[in-house]
Amino acid sequence: MRSVSIFGATGSIGESAFDLLMHDGGPDRWRVVALSGGANIARLAQMARALRAEIAVTAYPERLNDLREALAGSGIDAAAGPAALVEAADRPADWTLSAIIGAAGLAPGLRVLERGGTLALANKESLVTAGRLVMATAQRSGARILPVDSEHSAIFQALGGDNLDSVEAVTITASGGAFRDWPLERLADATVAEASTHPNWAMGQRITIDSASMFNKALELIEAQEFFGIDPARIKVLVHPESIVHALVSHKDGGTLAHLGPPDMRHAIGYALHWPDRADLPVARLDLAAIGSLSFRAPDEERWPALRLARQVMQTGGASGAVLNAAKEQALDDFLAGRIRFTDMASAVEATLDALTARPGFATSPMDLASVLDWDQQARQFAAAWAVREA
Ligand code: NDP
Ligand code: MG
Repeated sequence: MRSVSIFGATGSIGESAFDLLMHDGGPDRWRVVALSGGANIARLAQMARALRAEIAVTAYPERLNDLREALAGSGIDAAAGPAALVEAADRPADWTLSAIIGAAGLAPGLRVLERGGTLALANKESLVTAGRLVMATAQRSGARILPVDSEHSAIFQALGGDNLDSVEAVTITASGGAFRDWPLERLADATVAEASTHPNWAMGQRITIDSASMFNKALELIEAQEFFGIDPARIKVLVHPESIVHALVSHKDGGTLAHLGPPDMRHAIGYALHWPDRADLPVARLDLAAIGSLSFRAPDEERWPALRLARQVMQTGGASGAVLNAAKEQALDDFLAGRIRFTDMASAVEATLDALTARPGFATSPMDLASVLDWDQQARQFAAAWAVREA
């Protein structure tokens, strides 16, 4: 029996993974080691019971008693807090899904890599904040990272084991999110509810808003650079409203391979779960005759300044990814709380990037977990103060 752990089980990606396991025999086919969640204790306990997990962990120490109560009589261990997440990641499992949202996903994922485990990586923030550290850790221990973000899974699949030598460019697609066709002058007044809708994908609220602002694609550009080790000029973005083609790999000889699939994360998660095999997955099959046509257009950097900021980070390197991500997380909190407007998010991130990359010590900062978390904290503080001052 293969053993699995899921970090961020109660989220959108976590629920899709849970669904795949339950469709595939549940606890009779899979030995579930650890499941983690955050505030949703009831759902975490329900999932842990359904999969007969060894341990359930909530990110919040103050919720430990609630979790213990919810698991009473089940024989499942309960634990809480960031250190408990890392300890749970240390428990041997053949396959671990990293699906916590935000920079909080970095430490547990790193621990899996340190012990040489296979990490299915949905938490793109790990690569954005500490790509060099993540990849070097995996290389040192012989751990394998399998991409779960749909575009990166698509590139990985289209490469089909080829190396990048003959690859001229990789292209990730973007639906364009909620405001693809809005007049530019309306964007400043976009509400949280308006930004929380997505034309094609059902995802968590934070990544849905990041899709409307294109910060999600900004993170994915950096994620592609770090994971595939490909230089920035060869990574492109194409707006593709139908979300059917997820990525394209273009070779030097003029041939391009595209990966197509329904907008359902269970495909990318299931691909990583069964890799290198392909399993029969409970996802809808594409009906291209019914879809009829697919369209593509170049992204507009005036509408989506996040793409320009990603390019800046890809050139700067070092801790600039951690700064961009943390400033973006803070700006998103401020937007959700009504403290800043939709278009202020990019302004806050740009101001934070410009200020922090000019600080003494930035250029020489080492790439280790403590330094990354320190730049993350500095960026959050700067962005929060920006929101109070400027918005
Ligand atoms: P959700 O917000 O739906 O879920 C996040 C998960 O992380 C939940 O289990 C949540 O617990 C938990 N969590 C929240 N805060 C913390 C914290 N501080 N420490 C530990 N755990 C925490 O996110 P998604 O599932 O949408 O996204 C997860 C990751 O996958 C992100 O990195 C995202 O970028 C990536 N991704 C998501 C896609 C999607 O379709 N949703 C597509 C591609 C990538 P609780 O809910 O119990 O509070
Ligand atoms: Mg994606």
